[in-house]
Amino acid sequence: MYAESLDLSVASSPIQASLSALACDPAHSRGRRFAEAPAPTRNAFQRDRDRIVHSTAFRRLVYKTQVFLNHEGDLFRTRLTHSLEVAQLGRSIARALDLNEDLVEAVALAHDLGHTPFGHAGQDTLNECMAAHGGFEHNLQSLRVVDQLEERYPAFDGLNLSFETREGVLKHCSRAHAEHLEQVEPGGVGRRFIDRTQPSLEAQLCNLADAIAYNAHDIDDGVRSGLISMAQLLQVEMFAHYHQQTLAEHPGLSAKPRRLLYESIRRMLSDQVYDVIATTRQAVAHAGVTNADEARRSGPLVAFSPRMLARTGELKKFLFAQLYRHPQVMHTTGQAQQVVRELFEAYVAQPAEMPSDFAASADLHRSVADYIAGMTDRFAMREHERLTGFKLL
Ligand code: MG
Repeated sequence: MYAESLDLSVASSPIQASLSALACDPAHSRGRRFAEAPAPTRNAFQRDRDRIVHSTAFRRLVYKTQVFLNHEGDLFRTRLTHSLEVAQLGRSIARALDLNEDLVEAVALAHDLGHTPFGHAGQDTLNECMAAHGGFEHNLQSLRVVDQLEERYPAFDGLNLSFETREGVLKHCSRAHAEHLEQVEPGGVGRRFIDRTQPSLEAQLCNLADAIAYNAHDIDDGVRSGLISMAQLLQVEMFAHYHQQTLAEHPGLSAKPRRLLYESIRRMLSDQVYDVIATTRQAVAHAGVTNADEARRSGPLVAFSPRMLARTGELKKFLFAQLYRHPQVMHTTGQAQQVVRELFEAYVAQPAEMPSDFAASADLHRSVADYIAGMTDRFAMREHERLTGFKLL
Protein backbone atom coordinates (compact mmCIF):
# COMPACT_ATOMS: atom_id res chain seq x y z
CA MET A 1 0.00 0.00 0.00
CA TYR A 2 1.32 3.48 -0.83
CA ALA A 3 1.64 6.13 1.85
CA GLU A 4 -0.66 8.53 -0.01
CA SER A 5 -3.57 6.19 0.55
CA LEU A 6 -2.97 5.81 4.27
CA ASP A 7 -4.37 8.09 6.91
CA LEU A 8 -1.30 9.32 8.78
CA SER A 9 -2.87 12.50 10.05
CA VAL A 10 -2.58 11.59 13.72
CA ALA A 11 0.63 9.59 13.45
CA SER A 12 3.07 12.50 13.58
CA SER A 13 5.64 11.67 16.27
CA PRO A 14 5.08 13.73 19.38
CA ILE A 15 8.01 15.64 20.75
CA GLN A 16 9.50 14.34 24.00
CA ALA A 17 7.12 14.31 26.90
CA SER A 18 8.94 17.19 28.51
CA LEU A 19 11.13 19.52 26.53
CA SER A 20 13.00 22.43 28.07
CA ALA A 21 12.13 25.92 26.83
CA LEU A 22 15.83 26.10 25.90
CA ALA A 23 15.66 23.04 23.65
CA CYS A 24 15.48 23.31 19.87
CA ASP A 25 11.93 22.65 18.79
CA PRO A 26 11.57 20.95 15.39
CA ALA A 27 8.27 22.76 14.85
CA HIS A 28 10.20 26.04 14.95
CA SER A 29 13.27 24.94 13.00
CA ARG A 30 14.98 27.58 10.89
CA GLY A 31 14.33 25.17 8.10
CA ARG A 32 16.16 23.51 5.22
CA ARG A 33 18.09 25.17 2.41
CA PHE A 34 15.59 23.75 -0.09
CA ALA A 35 11.97 23.86 1.02
CA GLU A 36 10.33 20.46 1.47
CA ALA A 37 6.89 19.44 2.70
CA PRO A 38 7.03 18.08 6.27
CA ALA A 39 7.11 14.29 6.66
CA PRO A 40 3.81 12.85 7.85
CA THR A 41 5.19 10.73 10.70
CA ARG A 42 8.52 12.25 11.68
CA ASN A 43 9.59 15.64 12.93
CA ALA A 44 12.36 17.56 11.15
CA PHE A 45 15.21 16.28 13.35
CA GLN A 46 14.06 12.67 13.22
CA ARG A 47 14.01 12.98 9.46
CA ASP A 48 17.55 14.42 9.50
CA ARG A 49 18.76 11.50 11.59
CA ASP A 50 17.18 9.01 9.19
CA ARG A 51 18.78 10.71 6.19
CA ILE A 52 22.17 10.53 7.90
CA VAL A 53 21.79 6.84 8.74
CA HIS A 54 20.89 6.06 5.11
CA SER A 55 23.76 8.07 3.65
CA THR A 56 26.78 6.52 1.94
CA ALA A 57 29.17 8.57 4.08
CA PHE A 58 27.64 7.04 7.22
CA ARG A 59 28.21 3.49 6.00
CA ARG A 60 31.82 4.33 5.20
CA LEU A 61 32.46 5.21 8.86
CA VAL A 62 32.62 1.51 9.68
CA TYR A 63 35.88 1.22 7.73
CA LYS A 64 37.48 4.43 8.93
CA THR A 65 40.13 4.68 11.62
CA GLN A 66 39.42 6.22 14.98
CA VAL A 67 42.88 5.62 16.53
CA PHE A 68 43.75 2.12 15.35
CA LEU A 69 43.63 1.24 11.68
CA ASN A 70 40.60 -0.76 10.72
CA HIS A 71 42.56 -3.92 9.91
CA GLU A 72 44.63 -3.89 13.12
CA GLY A 73 41.89 -5.63 15.09
CA ASP A 74 38.18 -6.39 14.87
CA LEU A 75 37.28 -5.02 18.29
CA PHE A 76 38.82 -1.57 18.12
CA ARG A 77 36.51 1.42 17.72
CA THR A 78 35.96 2.69 14.24
CA ARG A 79 34.41 6.04 13.36
CA LEU A 80 31.04 4.29 13.19
CA THR A 81 31.08 2.68 16.62
CA HIS A 82 32.54 5.91 18.03
CA SER A 83 29.64 7.89 16.51
CA LEU A 84 27.10 5.43 17.98
CA GLU A 85 28.69 5.80 21.42
CA VAL A 86 28.57 9.59 21.12
CA ALA A 87 24.88 9.35 20.18
CA GLN A 88 24.16 7.09 23.17
CA LEU A 89 25.91 9.35 25.67
CA GLY A 90 24.44 12.47 24.07
CA ARG A 91 20.90 11.15 24.21
CA SER A 92 21.23 10.13 27.85
CA ILE A 93 22.37 13.61 28.80
CA ALA A 94 19.78 15.29 26.55
CA ARG A 95 16.97 13.35 28.15
CA ALA A 96 18.07 14.28 31.65
CA LEU A 97 18.28 17.95 30.68
CA ASP A 98 15.05 17.92 28.63
CA LEU A 99 16.98 18.91 25.52
CA ASN A 100 16.00 17.55 22.13
CA GLU A 101 17.17 13.94 21.89
CA ASP A 102 16.40 13.63 18.19
CA LEU A 103 18.59 16.60 17.33
CA VAL A 104 21.40 15.33 19.55
CA GLU A 105 21.21 11.94 17.86
CA ALA A 106 21.29 13.47 14.37
CA VAL A 107 24.29 15.69 15.18
CA ALA A 108 26.17 12.87 16.93
CA LEU A 109 25.70 10.45 14.05
CA ALA A 110 26.82 13.08 11.52
CA HIS A 111 29.64 14.73 13.47
CA ASP A 112 32.46 12.67 11.95
CA LEU A 113 31.12 12.17 8.40
CA GLY A 114 33.88 14.41 6.99
CA HIS A 115 36.74 12.45 8.48
CA THR A 116 39.39 11.20 6.09
CA PRO A 117 40.71 7.64 6.14
CA PHE A 118 43.45 6.99 8.76
CA GLY A 119 42.12 9.39 11.39
CA HIS A 120 43.97 12.59 12.19
CA ALA A 121 47.02 11.53 10.17
CA GLY A 122 44.85 11.59 7.05
CA GLN A 123 43.23 14.91 7.89
CA ASP A 124 46.56 16.65 8.65
CA THR A 125 48.16 15.38 5.46
CA LEU A 126 45.21 16.36 3.30
CA ASN A 127 45.31 19.80 4.92
CA GLU A 128 49.00 20.11 3.96
CA CYS A 129 48.27 18.97 0.39
CA MET A 130 45.49 21.58 0.17
CA ALA A 131 47.51 24.41 1.78
CA ALA A 132 47.56 26.47 -1.41
CA HIS A 133 43.97 25.56 -2.32
CA GLY A 134 41.89 26.58 0.71
CA GLY A 135 43.04 23.86 3.14
CA PHE A 136 41.15 20.86 4.45
CA GLU A 137 39.28 20.75 7.73
CA HIS A 138 37.19 17.75 8.78
CA ASN A 139 34.38 19.72 10.44
CA LEU A 140 33.92 21.78 7.33
CA GLN A 141 34.11 18.58 5.31
CA SER A 142 31.33 17.01 7.41
CA LEU A 143 29.15 19.98 6.45
CA ARG A 144 30.23 19.60 2.82
CA VAL A 145 29.20 15.93 2.89
CA VAL A 146 25.69 16.67 4.16
CA ASP A 147 25.27 19.84 2.07
CA GLN A 148 26.84 18.83 -1.23
CA LEU A 149 28.61 15.51 -1.63
CA GLU A 150 25.86 13.01 -0.88
CA GLU A 151 23.89 12.27 -4.02
CA ARG A 152 20.54 10.77 -3.15
CA TYR A 153 17.73 13.17 -3.96
CA PRO A 154 16.33 14.26 -7.29
CA ALA A 155 15.97 17.98 -6.53
CA PHE A 156 19.14 18.90 -4.61
CA ASP A 157 22.69 17.92 -3.76
CA GLY A 158 23.41 16.66 -0.27
CA LEU A 159 20.89 15.64 2.38
CA ASN A 160 19.17 19.01 2.79
CA LEU A 161 19.27 18.83 6.59
CA SER A 162 17.69 21.32 8.97
CA PHE A 163 19.66 24.38 10.04
CA GLU A 164 19.97 23.08 13.62
CA THR A 165 21.55 19.79 12.55
CA ARG A 166 23.98 21.56 10.19
CA GLU A 167 24.80 24.05 12.95
CA GLY A 168 25.77 21.14 15.22
CA VAL A 169 27.81 19.42 12.53
CA LEU A 170 29.96 22.53 12.01
CA LYS A 171 31.71 22.28 15.35
CA HIS A 172 34.71 24.47 14.56
CA CYS A 173 35.41 26.83 11.71
CA SER A 174 38.15 29.37 11.03
CA ARG A 175 37.21 33.02 10.57
CA ALA A 176 38.18 32.87 6.88
CA HIS A 177 35.99 29.82 6.25
CA ALA A 178 33.14 31.39 8.24
CA GLU A 179 33.28 34.50 6.09
CA HIS A 180 33.15 32.39 2.96
CA LEU A 181 30.15 30.45 4.30
CA GLU A 182 28.47 33.72 5.21
CA GLN A 183 28.78 34.92 1.61
CA VAL A 184 27.18 31.75 0.27
CA GLU A 185 24.54 31.53 2.99
CA PRO A 186 24.00 34.88 4.74
CA GLY A 187 22.97 34.43 8.38
CA GLY A 188 23.60 30.69 8.04
CA VAL A 189 25.77 28.23 9.91
CA GLY A 190 28.98 30.26 9.48
CA ARG A 191 27.51 33.31 11.20
CA ARG A 192 28.18 32.32 14.79
CA PHE A 193 31.93 32.10 14.20
CA ILE A 194 31.84 35.76 13.12
CA ASP A 195 29.47 36.89 15.88
CA ARG A 196 31.25 34.64 18.41
CA THR A 197 28.02 33.17 19.73
CA GLN A 198 27.38 29.56 20.75
CA PRO A 199 25.56 26.82 18.87
CA SER A 200 22.38 25.28 20.34
CA LEU A 201 22.63 23.50 23.69
CA GLU A 202 22.15 20.22 21.80
CA ALA A 203 25.24 20.96 19.69
CA GLN A 204 27.25 21.97 22.76
CA LEU A 205 26.20 18.71 24.36
CA CYS A 206 27.41 16.67 21.38
CA ASN A 207 30.88 18.24 21.66
CA LEU A 208 31.15 17.13 25.23
CA ALA A 209 29.67 13.68 24.55
CA ASP A 210 32.32 13.28 21.83
CA ALA A 211 35.13 13.91 24.33
CA ILE A 212 33.56 11.71 27.01
CA ALA A 213 33.22 8.89 24.48
CA TYR A 214 36.74 8.95 23.08
CA ASN A 215 38.49 9.37 26.43
CA ALA A 216 36.73 6.24 27.64
CA HIS A 217 36.99 4.08 24.55
CA ASP A 218 40.59 5.01 23.86
CA ILE A 219 41.51 3.66 27.31
CA ASP A 220 39.76 0.42 26.44
CA ASP A 221 41.32 0.16 22.98
CA GLY A 222 44.71 1.27 24.29
CA VAL A 223 44.79 -1.51 26.88
CA ARG A 224 43.38 -4.05 24.40
CA SER A 225 46.17 -3.21 21.97
CA GLY A 226 48.81 -3.63 24.65
CA LEU A 227 50.14 -0.14 23.97
CA ILE A 228 49.16 1.15 27.40
CA SER A 229 49.40 -0.86 30.61
CA MET A 230 47.27 -0.84 33.71
CA ALA A 231 50.31 0.38 35.67
CA GLN A 232 50.55 3.44 33.38
CA LEU A 233 46.82 4.09 33.62
CA LEU A 234 46.95 4.07 37.41
CA GLN A 235 49.11 7.18 37.23
CA VAL A 236 46.06 9.05 35.94
CA GLU A 237 44.16 10.38 38.94
CA MET A 238 40.68 9.95 37.49
CA PHE A 239 41.21 6.39 36.37
CA ALA A 240 42.99 5.41 39.61
CA HIS A 241 40.04 6.77 41.60
CA TYR A 242 37.45 4.54 39.89
CA HIS A 243 39.82 1.59 39.77
CA GLN A 244 40.32 1.75 43.57
CA GLN A 245 36.61 2.28 44.15
CA THR A 246 35.79 -0.79 42.05
CA LEU A 247 38.38 -2.99 43.76
CA ALA A 248 37.17 -1.90 47.21
CA GLU A 249 33.63 -3.03 46.34
CA HIS A 250 34.63 -6.09 44.31
CA PRO A 251 38.00 -7.39 45.58
CA GLY A 252 37.55 -10.56 43.49
CA LEU A 253 37.97 -8.51 40.31
CA SER A 254 41.73 -8.29 40.88
CA ALA A 255 41.79 -11.72 39.22
CA LYS A 256 39.60 -10.53 36.34
CA PRO A 257 41.46 -7.59 34.80
CA ARG A 258 39.10 -7.01 31.85
CA ARG A 259 36.03 -6.81 34.06
CA LEU A 260 37.93 -4.55 36.42
CA LEU A 261 38.88 -2.31 33.51
CA TYR A 262 35.32 -2.17 32.13
CA GLU A 263 33.80 -1.45 35.52
CA SER A 264 36.34 1.33 36.16
CA ILE A 265 35.59 2.87 32.75
CA ARG A 266 31.83 2.50 33.30
CA ARG A 267 32.02 4.40 36.59
CA MET A 268 34.21 7.05 35.00
CA LEU A 269 31.69 7.51 32.16
CA SER A 270 28.72 7.71 34.52
CA ASP A 271 30.34 10.30 36.75
CA GLN A 272 31.24 12.48 33.77
CA VAL A 273 27.65 12.27 32.54
CA TYR A 274 26.24 13.16 35.98
CA ASP A 275 28.75 15.98 36.28
CA VAL A 276 27.70 17.50 32.93
CA ILE A 277 24.03 17.25 33.86
CA ALA A 278 24.47 18.91 37.27
CA THR A 279 26.88 21.59 36.02
CA THR A 280 24.68 22.45 33.04
CA ARG A 281 21.55 22.70 35.18
CA GLN A 282 23.34 25.18 37.42
CA ALA A 283 24.76 27.16 34.52
CA VAL A 284 21.35 27.40 32.84
CA ALA A 285 19.67 28.54 36.07
CA HIS A 286 22.41 31.11 36.63
CA ALA A 287 22.31 32.44 33.04
CA GLY A 288 18.59 33.20 33.29
CA VAL A 289 17.98 32.42 29.62
CA THR A 290 14.44 31.59 28.52
CA ASN A 291 14.69 30.18 25.01
CA ALA A 292 17.06 28.47 22.57
CA ASP A 293 18.20 31.69 20.91
CA GLU A 294 19.00 33.37 24.21
CA ALA A 295 20.98 30.26 25.13
CA ARG A 296 22.99 30.68 21.88
CA ARG A 297 23.83 34.27 22.83
CA SER A 298 24.85 33.32 26.36
CA GLY A 299 28.32 31.85 27.02
CA PRO A 300 28.84 28.07 26.77
CA LEU A 301 26.29 26.45 29.09
CA VAL A 302 26.84 22.71 28.62
CA ALA A 303 30.03 22.05 30.54
CA PHE A 304 31.99 20.01 33.06
CA SER A 305 32.54 21.35 36.56
CA PRO A 306 36.05 22.85 36.97
CA ARG A 307 37.10 19.77 38.96
CA MET A 308 35.93 17.30 36.30
CA LEU A 309 37.42 19.45 33.58
CA ALA A 310 40.83 19.25 35.29
CA ARG A 311 40.51 15.47 35.70
CA THR A 312 39.51 14.86 32.09
CA GLY A 313 42.27 17.23 30.98
CA GLU A 314 44.84 15.06 32.74
CA LEU A 315 43.43 11.93 31.11
CA LYS A 316 43.47 13.59 27.69
CA LYS A 317 47.13 14.55 28.16
CA PHE A 318 47.96 11.01 29.20
CA LEU A 319 46.26 9.50 26.14
CA PHE A 320 48.00 11.96 23.87
CA ALA A 321 51.46 11.19 25.21
CA GLN A 322 51.12 7.45 25.80
CA LEU A 323 48.72 6.34 23.06
CA TYR A 324 48.36 8.81 20.18
CA ARG A 325 52.14 9.44 20.24
CA HIS A 326 53.11 5.81 20.89
CA PRO A 327 55.92 4.76 18.49
CA GLN A 328 53.75 1.98 17.05
CA VAL A 329 50.86 4.37 16.36
CA MET A 330 53.33 6.94 14.98
CA HIS A 331 54.77 4.34 12.60
CA THR A 332 51.38 3.61 11.03
CA THR A 333 50.65 7.35 11.11
CA GLY A 334 53.75 7.96 8.98
CA GLN A 335 52.68 5.35 6.46
CA ALA A 336 49.13 6.69 6.37
CA GLN A 337 50.49 10.16 5.64
CA GLN A 338 52.51 8.74 2.75
CA VAL A 339 49.44 6.98 1.32
CA VAL A 340 47.34 10.15 1.43
CA ARG A 341 50.10 12.38 0.04
CA GLU A 342 50.91 10.04 -2.84
CA LEU A 343 47.24 9.48 -3.66
CA PHE A 344 46.75 13.24 -3.79
CA GLU A 345 49.73 13.71 -6.13
CA ALA A 346 48.63 10.82 -8.34
CA TYR A 347 45.07 12.11 -8.84
CA VAL A 348 46.19 15.69 -9.45
CA ALA A 349 48.61 14.40 -12.11
CA GLN A 350 46.07 11.98 -13.62
CA PRO A 351 42.50 13.10 -12.81
CA ALA A 352 41.10 10.37 -15.08
CA GLU A 353 42.11 7.83 -12.42
CA MET A 354 39.17 9.18 -10.36
CA PRO A 355 35.49 8.54 -11.16
CA SER A 356 34.33 10.80 -13.98
CA ASP A 357 32.28 13.24 -11.86
CA PHE A 358 35.32 13.97 -9.67
CA ALA A 359 37.66 14.16 -12.68
CA ALA A 360 35.36 16.61 -14.49
CA SER A 361 35.19 19.13 -11.63
CA ALA A 362 36.27 22.73 -12.35
CA ASP A 363 38.16 22.80 -9.03
CA LEU A 364 40.48 19.81 -9.41
CA HIS A 365 42.30 20.09 -6.07
CA ARG A 366 39.08 20.35 -4.05
CA SER A 367 37.66 17.46 -6.02
CA VAL A 368 40.72 15.29 -5.27
CA ALA A 369 40.43 16.21 -1.56
CA ASP A 370 36.71 15.28 -1.58
CA TYR A 371 37.46 11.98 -3.27
CA ILE A 372 40.27 11.02 -0.88
CA ALA A 373 38.37 12.23 2.19
CA GLY A 374 35.47 9.97 1.30
CA MET A 375 37.64 6.86 1.11
CA THR A 376 37.66 4.10 3.70
CA ASP A 377 41.08 3.02 5.03
CA ARG A 378 41.22 -0.11 2.95
CA PHE A 379 39.99 1.51 -0.26
CA ALA A 380 42.69 4.16 0.14
CA MET A 381 45.33 1.46 0.62
CA ARG A 382 44.09 -0.46 -2.41
CA GLU A 383 44.05 2.66 -4.58
CA HIS A 384 47.51 3.60 -3.39
CA GLU A 385 48.84 0.18 -4.34
CA ARG A 386 47.09 0.33 -7.72
CA LEU A 387 48.50 3.76 -8.55
CA THR A 388 52.02 3.47 -7.12
CA GLY A 389 52.72 -0.26 -7.15
CA PHE A 390 53.80 -0.08 -3.50
CA LYS A 391 51.97 -1.81 -0.71
CA LEU A 392 52.19 0.12 2.55
CA LEU A 393 50.50 -0.47 5.92
MG1 MG B 1 34.19 12.34 17.22
